Amino acid sequence: MDTVTETVPQRPEPVMTPDSAFFWEAVTRGELLIKQCSVCLKLWHPPRPMCPECHAIAMVPVRMSGRGTVYSWTMPIHPFPFGFAAPPIVALVDLEEGPRLVSNVVGVDPRKMRNGVRVEVAFEPTAGGKAVPVFRLAEGETL
Ligand SMILES: [Zn+2]
Repeated sequence: MDTVTETVPQRPEPVMTPDSAFFWEAVTRGELLIKQCSVCLKLWHPPRPMCPECHAIAMVPVRMSGRGTVYSWTMPIHPFPFGFAAPPIVALVDLEEGPRLVSNVVGVDPRKMRNGVRVEVAFEPTAGGKAVPVFRLAEGETL
């Protein structure tokens, strides 16, 4: 009944806003950028026009290492999200620089998935030629 394969990108396009365009454009280039407040130096995600801490509007994108840790995760099954051939692992990933992202963890057996696992960013193409950041097990990490 379902002929979707993993070789043809099926992920829906990210929703770009004026505040988030830099993030998605960087992801499509294979970079993970997070905006940092130029005044208090706090890193903020998701992107916003003003620093919620000190209300400065001067914020600059900073490249992240891509390394992080899974804070928590779930697997939406009924129904699983549009654009996925199989239920994805949806995770809260704490980047080593501090910000927390909602993303997917790929390439792992969900029966072995656990909180606290070390992950690193990867980039998966979308159906329209852009990309989204996902995470896979960090080098040397085991489940
Ligand atoms: Zn600030």
